[in-house]
Amino acid sequence: MPDYRDFDKLNILTKIEGTLINNTPLRIGVGREAPLGSPVDVAVYRVNNQPCIPGSSLKGLFRSFLESTFASEGYNVHPPYDDKRVEEEAKNADFCEICGIFGNNELASHIRVYDSYAKVNLTFQKTGISIDREFGSVKPGGLFTEEFIPPNIEWNFRMDIINVRIYPEPDFSDKRVKLLQSLIRVLSTDGLSIGSRKSVGAGLIKLKEAKWTTYVIEKGLLKEVGKGDIL
Ligand SMILES: [Zn+2]
Repeated sequence: MPDYRDFDKLNILTKIEGTLINNTPLRIGVGREAPLGSPVDVAVYRVNNQPCIPGSSLKGLFRSFLESTFASEGYNVHPPYDDKRVEEEAKNADFCEICGIFGNNELASHIRVYDSYAKVNLTFQKTGISIDREFGSVKPGGLFTEEFIPPNIEWNFRMDIINVRIYPEPDFSDKRVKLLQSLIRVLSTDGLSIGSRKSVGAGLIKLKEAKWTTYVIEKGLLKEVGKGDIL
């Protein structure tokens, strides 16, 4: 019966900092509309002119990976927008592990994923033919350009894990530990796909290198209790 509402007190904090790399072309879209004055029709998302993967997109990717993986292993999984389930969890003070990590309307998130920025500002354009969805035909004058980040670009990565003891020694009585370990493992081995054109292999990102640092609170101050390499 885990009640994960423990934010009255910060007990333990792990910071994960490292580098992501995209193995295939990547575009986090900005919808159909390119920014005003953009030379392309479908542009890469940027903040202050730097290509960016929003932390919220990474968090959504992590959540859907864990939902699909653990649904088949007897974990009690539901979509985040299942309001009825979310209300029941809060009423019974019994949250599922996925909400215990990512939060829901009634529960704050136990991870914080920061925006990830490309370390170099490099893109390429691909010209495609726009197909009329309704008739399956090429639209008149239907050439358009798509912008992508080329493969093998490095991105900074940072994620905080709050009040879940995954390091220095994992607390396996907390079921969320196994989920977070599996997320970090897949991100550093097979990788996960994000953004546009996933069906043709675009957007595969991997954790290239990362370090963890864990702190506990002592007399109101963060005290480092361990650090190490993840990869
Ligand atoms: Zn839940």
